[in-house]
This record gives sequence, C-alpha cells and structure tokens, in this order.
Amino acid sequence: MNGPITKLAAARTALAEAFAGATRAVVFTGAGISTESGIPDFRSPGGLWSRMQPIYYDDFLSSEEARLEDWRRRFDMARLFAEAEPNAAHLAVANLARHGPVCLVVTQNIDGLHARSGVPRDMLVELHGTNDHARCLDCGERHEISHAQGTIAKTGASPRCTRCGGLVKAAIVSFGQAMPQEDMERAMTEAVQADLFVAMGTSLVVYPAAALPIMAKEAGAQLVIANNQPTDQDGIADLVLRTPLAETFRPLAEASLV
Ligand code: ZN
Repeated sequence: MNGPITKLAAARTALAEAFAGATRAVVFTGAGISTESGIPDFRSPGGLWSRMQPIYYDDFLSSEEARLEDWRRRFDMARLFAEAEPNAAHLAVANLARHGPVCLVVTQNIDGLHARSGVPRDMLVELHGTNDHARCLDCGERHEISHAQGTIAKTGASPRCTRCGGLVKAAIVSFGQAMPQEDMERAMTEAVQADLFVAMGTSLVVYPAAALPIMAKEAGAQLVIANNQPTDQDGIADLVLRTPLAETFRPLAEASLV
C-alpha cells in the first residue's frame, strides 16, 4: 500500500476508478458514515451511549425493569434517527447499488439510513438489526416502535405481542444476543465473490464482521478502506482514504452510472 490519500480530489478520482473497474462490489459501513448525518458514534469513547450500562439480552428476557429501560433508549434513538437525513455518502451507496456494480451493502448501523436512502431491501444486510421496528421474540410478528411507545405511555408495562402474547423487542441485535446467522453467511459469500470491497466509516474492530475485508482481499478483491482514523487493516488495503466521507462520495451520488 502507498500512504493514505488525504486530498479530496485525489480520493474522488481513486474511488471513481475503483468503482469503474469493478463488476461485483461489496460495501461495508459503520458508524462513521452516519456521523455526518448528525448521529453520534455511540461506541466511541465519551460517546452518548458509552456511558450507559449496556442492557444484555438475558436481562431483557428476565426483567421488566430492563425492558422498560431498553424501550426508553429505543424511543430516544428512534427520535434521533428520524430527525437525521441520509448524507451524500449514503446516497452514493444507494446509487451504486441501484445503477452500479454494488451487489450488497453490509452495515453495522441500526439507524436505517441505508434503507431510507434507497438501497433496495434485498441488497441490504443490517448485521446489528434495525431500530425502525420491533418484533415478537416468539412468533416474529412485526410491531411498530410508535405502538410500543403508546402502550407504555398508557399502561406503564412493556408491550406484548397482539398475536401470541410474547415479548416484543426492537429489531436490533442486543448485547449477548446472537447475530442472525444467515445474514453473516450472505455477507461472507458475497465478500469472497467480490472484485471490489469498500469499507466505509468503520474502524474494523468488531468481529466477526471485521473479518469480511480480510476474506475479500484474500479471495482476490481490491480493498478500499475509507475511514477518518487508521485501522488495523490499512496495511493490506490497496487504497486508504482519510477524507470526509460525504464529500468524497458526493460525485458518485450524482453520477449517472448507467
Ligand atoms: Zn408473537
């Protein structure tokens, strides 16, 4: 690898060339793509949620108090996410998925901004789930966050499934809860078939997802890492971009790719 690219024009050119030369690309995103939409990186030290005790899945199952606290956080997050708008980086990813070589978008984010920016549902894997709806833990029935909020406001108790009476929980993957196996398998399958793998706004420290770029690279893909901080995988990347994501990707949001 050469050194990281820190100049906007050079980063844009390198990125345009990488996508133009690709036929099968995978994009992998983390919190850094959404910070420019005003959503804090809640894993970062001192970040909004780093000071809170995580609520573990087992606690959610066993404690009404934990469930109510979890719902309070879900409602706060839902409000924050609803106020945020997808930025040019989200729009570029959506454009590349709809009209360009991107065949799968894998995200660690739960903010729903990829779906809202127009990435087709069947091309999107949300590894940590999404905060934009809830599901019954027993029968899988979909429930709306706003309905849960109404129920708690009215009864003071956490919501139960209207179909089977089971516990209802926001459709995020909680601490101590297994990641959906089929989603991870799909991400791995696409990663090893890709000729271009682009990691954006992720520090690549949360495994197993952080293994995806390594798998793609070992299987022959060109690897691009765009992040505002160095990552442990910069050394194996073909291209490292250290420029602001929204500005760097803006031309790809507007380009006619067809
Ligand atoms: Zn149910």
